[in-house]
Amino acid sequence: MVQLHKTSNTSGKEQTACKQCGICCTKGGAALHRTDISILRKKLIPRRDLITLRKGEFAHNPVSDKVQATSTEIVKLRGTNGEWTCCYYNPSTCGCTIYAHRPLACRTLRCWDPQESLALVETDLLSRMNILDGEKVLQELVIQYEEACPLPDFNVLSLDIRRQPEKSIAALEDQINADVRFRDRAVQDSTTVAQEELFLFGRPLFQLLHPFGFTVFQSGNVLRLQWKGIKRNTS
Ligand code: SF4
Ligand code: SF4
Repeated sequence: MVQLHKTSNTSGKEQTACKQCGICCTKGGAALHRTDISILRKKLIPRRDLITLRKGEFAHNPVSDKVQATSTEIVKLRGTNGEWTCCYYNPSTCGCTIYAHRPLACRTLRCWDPQESLALVETDLLSRMNILDGEKVLQELVIQYEEACPLPDFNVLSLDIRRQPEKSIAALEDQINADVRFRDRAVQDSTTVAQEELFLFGRPLFQLLHPFGFTVFQSGNVLRLQWKGIKRNTS
């Protein structure tokens, strides 16, 4: 979702219009709503420019203003250069390179009067299945991925890791490596999947663990985890 961002008001006057500062576009690309499907069908925004936040992934919620588990799947415009700044944002002009067909969330955003935008949060969103309507092979692949590599409940994980750190680390290491193996196979089998991996599967699980105190490192061909100095005892 485009993040709501109140711009500072140095003139002392109440803001009543967009200053076109672009700050909201640097806080994250827009979430896509059902009404945005025509933009995708016309290929004005290609799927390689989308990223999926799977249900339960932790993200900033503008309504609560907290980082919390998403209540639903969110497909949004991806960031750029490893940052959340929308891939369609042009920093040299502070402008949008797809302005004429920008998504609903962007058209609605008024940082100085956010009620309309807040009402859209996690409401009437497009899902991967909506977007892949009629593409049975890719739909089936997403279903297989969700069955083989379900997202852990991060609230439960946070409790378990404190109670049984070694056991939890072992289970999670199995999950992150299964996740990587599934993706590697799918990407090798299909150029489309390689281009659209972040849309089809979201970010790899191992990339989601840092906020919960995990460090990821490679050991031989597998990924290993450390949690607050504790590693799995494999000896
Ligand atoms: S809505 Fe306009 S004024 Fe507000 S942050 Fe975005 S570009 Fe800047
Ligand atoms: S699509 Fe355009 S208006 Fe919307 S977040 Fe990206 S750069 Fe900003």
